[in-house]
Amino acid sequence: MGAGVDDRVFLREAIRLARESVEVGGGPFGAVIVQDGTVIGRGANRVIPWADPTAHAEVAAIRDACRYLQDHRLHGATLYVSCEPCPMCRAAACWARLDRVVYAASARDAAEAGFDDERIRDELVAPPEQRILPLSRELAEEGRAVFDYWERHANRRLY
Ligand SMILES: [Zn+2]
Repeated sequence: MGAGVDDRVFLREAIRLARESVEVGGGPFGAVIVQDGTVIGRGANRVIPWADPTAHAEVAAIRDACRYLQDHRLHGATLYVSCEPCPMCRAAACWARLDRVVYAASARDAAEAGFDDERIRDELVAPPEQRILPLSRELAEEGRAVFDYWERHANRRLY
């Protein structure tokens, strides 16, 4: 099978998980993670049933794959998602060091169904005075001191 054919097979599995998710009260999103032709993680949206705004399919699949590999990095792996990832999930895919993301439905398709992450995409590039969520800073030195503590700590491990 060529890469494109494999991609479509795994993407269909993600789409199947998205449909299944609807049946149990989750959002219509599913994801699988594949490494060397093998599914190593699966996830589906559980935002409402778990009362967890971060319970997106991609995050669940990343957690599942990392738990399976006992590694916080997923080098050489591909994330297949039923829908174009939101900014949080794109960032999570970067943190997980995934090689590639393949998706089916677009963010626009999701927005038309009521799942609009456009305001978050805008928020991330908005100048501070135009942000919906204000970020303010206090205790800069005390915060910085945690890194000094960490740098001196024997158990530190960079990721
Ligand atoms: Zn997401």
